[in-house]
Amino acid sequence: MTPYRYADFYQRSLQDRDGFWAEQAQLIDWQSPPQQICDYSNPPFARWFVGGTTNLCHNAVDRHLQDRAEQPALIAVSTETNTEQVYTFAQLHTEVQCMAASLLALGVQKGDRVLIYMPMVAEAAFAMLACARIGAIHCVVFGGFAAGSLASRIEDAEPKVIVSADAGSRAGKVVPYKPLLDEAIRLSSHKPGAVLLTDRALAAMDLVAGRDHLWGDLRQKHLNSVVPCEWVDATHPSYTLYTSGTTGKPKGVQRDTGGYAVALAASMKYIYCGNPGETYFSTSDIGWVVGHSYIIYGPLIAGMATIMYEGLPTRPDGGIWWSLVEKYKVTVMFSAPTAVRVLKKQDPALMARYDLSSLRALFLAGEPLDEPTAQWISSALGKPIIDNYWQTETGWPILSIANGVEKAPSKFGSPGVAMYGYNVKLLDENTGDELTGANQKGVVAIEGPLPPGCMQTVWRDDARFVNTYWKSVPGKLVYSTFDWGVRDADGYFFILGRTDDVINVAGHRLGTREIEEAISSHPNISEVAVVGVADALKGQVAMAFAVVKDATSLTDDAARLKLEGEVMKVVDNSIGAVGRPARVRFVTVLPKTRSGKLLRRAIQAVCEGRDPGDLTTMDDPAALQQIRDLVAP
Ligand code: AMP
Repeated sequence: MTPYRYADFYQRSLQDRDGFWAEQAQLIDWQSPPQQICDYSNPPFARWFVGGTTNLCHNAVDRHLQDRAEQPALIAVSTETNTEQVYTFAQLHTEVQCMAASLLALGVQKGDRVLIYMPMVAEAAFAMLACARIGAIHCVVFGGFAAGSLASRIEDAEPKVIVSADAGSRAGKVVPYKPLLDEAIRLSSHKPGAVLLTDRALAAMDLVAGRDHLWGDLRQKHLNSVVPCEWVDATHPSYTLYTSGTTGKPKGVQRDTGGYAVALAASMKYIYCGNPGETYFSTSDIGWVVGHSYIIYGPLIAGMATIMYEGLPTRPDGGIWWSLVEKYKVTVMFSAPTAVRVLKKQDPALMARYDLSSLRALFLAGEPLDEPTAQWISSALGKPIIDNYWQTETGWPILSIANGVEKAPSKFGSPGVAMYGYNVKLLDENTGDELTGANQKGVVAIEGPLPPGCMQTVWRDDARFVNTYWKSVPGKLVYSTFDWGVRDADGYFFILGRTDDVINVAGHRLGTREIEEAISSHPNISEVAVVGVADALKGQVAMAFAVVKDATSLTDDAARLKLEGEVMKVVDNSIGAVGRPARVRFVTVLPKTRSGKLLRRAIQAVCEGRDPGDLTTMDDPAALQQIRDLVAP
């Protein structure tokens, strides 16, 4: 028999779309099978597996009880608290039901939102799975976000219950969550009915009577509860996850249930090549999409054990991740280029100390993988390094190598070829025409319908979904990724950066507008521009250039440093340290076009020592010169 060629597999996914995805739908359990595979009668809204009913938690947990109840499912490791706990599928089933019973007791019903603001602890996984179990919609907010960012998400999601904890911990330093949560609830006009708190005994908590409940108490009360899975329509929203764009207001990316489960199951088979009974280790955080798809749902749906890791890659030493690979016989690992760049600075002997023979491949995603980083990890590890390119919006890879269909080489600097189901195009920025030749630079776009697992819409804002993603090319309804790319003659894509004002700091996606809004709230700042500047370790860092209201206050370097510190604090308090600019520099005027548009790209070019390009529309050439003088080496 001739082996299945990926090119044929890919073509079939587009040309016989329904036949292809009907087959993939068999990778999961359905309570009742879908009646229609894809309803695209109202583009760009795609409804997948219409008429089918299923449940994400059933597919991730319950259906494995028959074959692997006593096998590990969730391995929660914290090098911050020096704890390690392994939950079998049977134990996970018990904990999730207990959490589900607690949420039900707090009044959560199908379709209600539950906001999860948690460090990387097992209870966070219980909460996500418990929501899926009862048909509630979870909204996980990254634990590194501060009160302002959390408040805007509470406001938008209107959660009935918030699940949180006393504190997280980073590099041995306790990071209290509860005071941030209390402040966020105070700032938000929406108030949750209840707050469910895991007490890790890291920080004291002031409980609000009648609102705040301790998980320890409710767990005791609901231990051994039986909570059956709520069968929901395939199109029922499973979660929302907020992500940054060009405006200051984050978008709630809304995901369905059936399409997501099928997409993840298929990706585990064709892209990540993980098998039931093996262990998957993704070093991401549940606050990001990788955490949703490839810490929680993907591996568990595939019947794999998944490692949840709280801590740094370098504590107690740079060998910690590899020691986990050895101990738990990890077969598939997923991380980000930034983490690899951090590890590159460690003693390579730390890696050689562990038996990594179980590991088949390391997947990297979230930001461009530069060639030196890829080369280093590839030779240090002696395993295939597989880049994959995708977004919060898509939920699973747009570009990668589907080694589970046909083994194919990776090319350094390229995340790979278009994945099945994605009709990826490169479009001319100005005309919207498709670029079909090799090595032509265009906007990476996807023709609808987006495949299963991708966003359904923006939470409660269909118009924003259409206008943001589908209207960037005049006269054409096509999804824009907002990334530049080129494709070589073999169909391999290369990603060349964002077309919009989104920056990527250590794999974390941030909108420059969000950071600018936070900085502008400082009483002495009248105007600010934030740009992303290339950084050897983090990929990019944010740089801020601000105009002060009262310039007489900036008498000397000490005064400037003091104000810079104050501005950084404002960002810390509003967005969190992830959004903090590397530097805040003060100027008297910002470079703008004559019509008043900030020339962020020109600022960025100057900061990176590049030619700022055509400046004929610039209002005041001296403005850019000020920045040039400030950043001159
Ligand atoms: P997020 O939604 O936070 O996952 O960020 C998605 C964005 O990160 C993409 O639009 C790209 O700009 C960037 N990105 C993600 N993965 C890759 C990759 N493998 N190579 C290059 N850029 C990537």
